[in-house]
Amino acid sequence: MTLLQDMTLSELTDFLTADFGVKPFVAKQVFHWLNKSVDFDGMTDVSKALRERLKENCVAVSATIVRTLVSKLDGTQKFLFRLYDGNVVEGVLMNYKYGNTLCVSCQVGCRMGCKFCASTLGGLVRNLSAGEILGQVAAVNALDGGKERYVTNIVLMGSGEPLDNFDNTVKFLRLVSDADGLNVSLRNISLSTCGIAPNVRKLADMGLPVNLTLSLHNPFNEQREEIMPVSRAYSVEEAIDACRYFFNKTGRRVIAEYTLIDGQNDSYAHALKLASLLRGLPAHVNVIALNPVKETGLKGTDEKTLKRFLQYLDKLGVSATRRRTMGQDIEGACGQLRRRYLEEHND
Ligand code: SAH
Repeated sequence: MTLLQDMTLSELTDFLTADFGVKPFVAKQVFHWLNKSVDFDGMTDVSKALRERLKENCVAVSATIVRTLVSKLDGTQKFLFRLYDGNVVEGVLMNYKYGNTLCVSCQVGCRMGCKFCASTLGGLVRNLSAGEILGQVAAVNALDGGKERYVTNIVLMGSGEPLDNFDNTVKFLRLVSDADGLNVSLRNISLSTCGIAPNVRKLADMGLPVNLTLSLHNPFNEQREEIMPVSRAYSVEEAIDACRYFFNKTGRRVIAEYTLIDGQNDSYAHALKLASLLRGLPAHVNVIALNPVKETGLKGTDEKTLKRFLQYLDKLGVSATRRRTMGQDIEGACGQLRRRYLEEHND
């Protein structure tokens, strides 16, 4: 099956002119519809004959919203996207003063095995293609009457590890920021990684000025290994060194994500070690309390301890803020909604 949203305008033009004998301007029309998440039947300025032929071999809309939950607390919307083969992934749309941020998924499931995360519970099912990641953005833009800039910011923080699906993620970044396409600035896109150090360096060498977020969660390797198996392959020091390399190559400040788990990573010793690790790196720490996932049995740090941890960091000269937890009433954390959906479908 050929996913048309996987292609740049010039790839689509080559494909349609060579295989379907159409004129380049027709390819441009098709491309325009693809970026608006419009299926073949809705491509009104494309001939019916071509649409019928395309339908036989190609997929136009690679992610379709099949369920939407709206948070009563903050208006955050959670989407379940269906892919052409029946797999589902999730996304979250958060409204801020400056615009709308969409959190997208890059894999069905995940193989990183982080102990607190719902996305990894059933392992990795498959990678998403670039067009399937783009399709999530296009589908959400289409909710607002096809306005191309409804989604202003994107975070790769849904299910999956972007740097474990490196080529598709990079192609997605190129597609979504393409002036002919959705034209979202790379500076408005955050890529979050659990710390696959060599791929952070590879990304840095490409010079793509995205915001890089490192899911740090524990500064001590022995403890980090227990909650994040990736740490056995790449130590926290290696991950941070790779982030430093990224900063040197792109000039983009790095964000460290720090999820507080009750009694596991919220002491003064953790704050002290974190501060020493980040010394010299222009980094900001986002602190968040764990969003409990029933299958994991882990608990988030209480309010008082969280505030105390932030004070420790402040005293140690570490730039840190608390990240608002959004959509807590709608299975807001990574992978939770898909779990629920699979349970309902007895999968
Ligand atoms: N694989 C990437 C991106 C996906 S997860 C990564 O590891 O960064 C996005 C962020 O949510 C990560 O920082 C992840 O550690 C965090 N996260 C996952 N489950 C969570 C939970 N239950 N509560 C709080 N944060 C969670």
